[in-house]
Amino acid sequence: MKKTGFYDPLCENKFEKRRGLIHRYPDRVVLTVTGRCFAYCRFCFRKKNWSGFNGFDLSGAVEYIKENKNIQEVLISGGDPFFLSDEQLGRILAPIKAIDHVKFIRIGTRVLSSNPLRIDNNCVSAIAEYKPLWIAAHINHTDEITKEFVNSASMIIDAGIPIVAQTVLLKGINDNADILERLFCKLVEIGIKPYYLFGCDYAQGNGHFRVPIESAVKIINKLRGSISGLCVPNFSFDLPQGGGKIIVEPDRLRKRYKNRYVFVNFEGKEFDYDDV
Ligand code: SF4
Repeated sequence: MKKTGFYDPLCENKFEKRRGLIHRYPDRVVLTVTGRCFAYCRFCFRKKNWSGFNGFDLSGAVEYIKENKNIQEVLISGGDPFFLSDEQLGRILAPIKAIDHVKFIRIGTRVLSSNPLRIDNNCVSAIAEYKPLWIAAHINHTDEITKEFVNSASMIIDAGIPIVAQTVLLKGINDNADILERLFCKLVEIGIKPYYLFGCDYAQGNGHFRVPIESAVKIINKLRGSISGLCVPNFSFDLPQGGGKIIVEPDRLRKRYKNRYVFVNFEGKEFDYDDV
């Protein structure tokens, strides 16, 4: 059968500076610390790591970050970093936290929706040592919000570790404003800020999940018109050939005459706005 989609849709291999360390944007790096996950998501953009993970070079990564003083954020990702033990996580976080110019660390994970009981008091105390630390939790549907999800998220938040959510827009699963509205409002109620709604990256085997940009923008427009900005994430997708992430919003600007702008609101009504 003909394969569609890309092995490495974000061209991360091109930006790999040390084994497992990806430096795509000036101020931040991603360190992939495992190829293993609690769930192996069909729509994953990094599924190349499931069987092809070559490990990571922690001391090389730390040296690289030390040498690049504009790096202020390190994202620990994978696979799922919580697949590692608390001790293993601590051995990764400690030398990164010790770098003066690293101002904050983020852990990208699907643990809350895939294995929330992995988060216990020991785990939370272990990672809380490395604050300011942020958790980027991957969740796509309210059906993934269990009692255990809420308990584990609350433990993390109560320890002073903020959580933001990342959602992948998936055809036939959540490509509907009502479904997403319920998800995003529920997350804010728990104390989690919806951060990104990602277009599904074109990795091998993902094609049937992709939603046209036009449909996605209509969904965002509907959300912007119906719920608080606190509940609406950025709709973003990655450009091909490693072009990086872009954020796409409904186009609000209709015309401009000198300092007069004509904008369209979420209801499709036009309004003149005189700039300073
Ligand atoms: S949990 Fe994340 S990294 Fe793991 S398979 Fe799913 S999307 Fe990919």
